[in-house]
Amino acid sequence: MQKLLVAYKVDWLDQRWDEYTDEEYEAARLIVVHGMSENHIVGGPRFYTEYDLSNACPACGAGMRQTGAYMLDGAGPQTVRLGQFRAVDSYSEIIVDQPLAETLTRANLSGLSLRSVYAIQPDEVPDELIWKQLWASHTLPPLSPRSTGIDFDSACKTCRRGKLESTSPVRFAYRARDLEGSKDVNRMWEHFGEYVRWNGDLKTAVLWQPYFVVTPKVWRIFRDAGVTGFQWLPIRVVEE
Ligand SMILES: [Zn+2]
Repeated sequence: MQKLLVAYKVDWLDQRWDEYTDEEYEAARLIVVHGMSENHIVGGPRFYTEYDLSNACPACGAGMRQTGAYMLDGAGPQTVRLGQFRAVDSYSEIIVDQPLAETLTRANLSGLSLRSVYAIQPDEVPDELIWKQLWASHTLPPLSPRSTGIDFDSACKTCRRGKLESTSPVRFAYRARDLEGSKDVNRMWEHFGEYVRWNGDLKTAVLWQPYFVVTPKVWRIFRDAGVTGFQWLPIRVVEE
């Protein structure tokens, strides 16, 4: 199953993205952070991470809220990536190593806090890692319909929020008025990902969380730390 998932994610990500210069990142209002398959790590609901489902869409799970520490598959082959990357992606959660966590904390970024991460091994007590999960207190309003490369018709029919599909190159646009109150670190409202498995049971769920959307200040910290494995996509700001 894991092999299938990874293969699927590779397919999904094997797309064309725009290239941006450092000047364009510096000038961006906000930048979407998108993990790639090479630094993906398995974890989440199937590994006993706890969620509040009271506001989750019954059809696709969008809107579920993590309440406990993030749990990784400690027995999976992808755990080696914790030693290969300074930051890894787990279904759009971002998990950073200890020095990077400390740098982010010292930078006093608005909207950001850090949470504990555990590795789950069969028949063993969960093992707390020195890695930390990024946590954003602020969720942005829905994207502007003037975003391109996003198939809004593919969205979950029940909530219009989940299971969104994209075609490359994606260009995320936000209305200027919807960015009032945005922080250094935010979460997108929409959930992307064509492969979602959700029947109401967390133990079998495969769900992608919304992307992180950050200021150039955050991008600069990741760049200076030599982080690889993420695509950074500046948003466009539009009137409608
Ligand atoms: Zn839904």
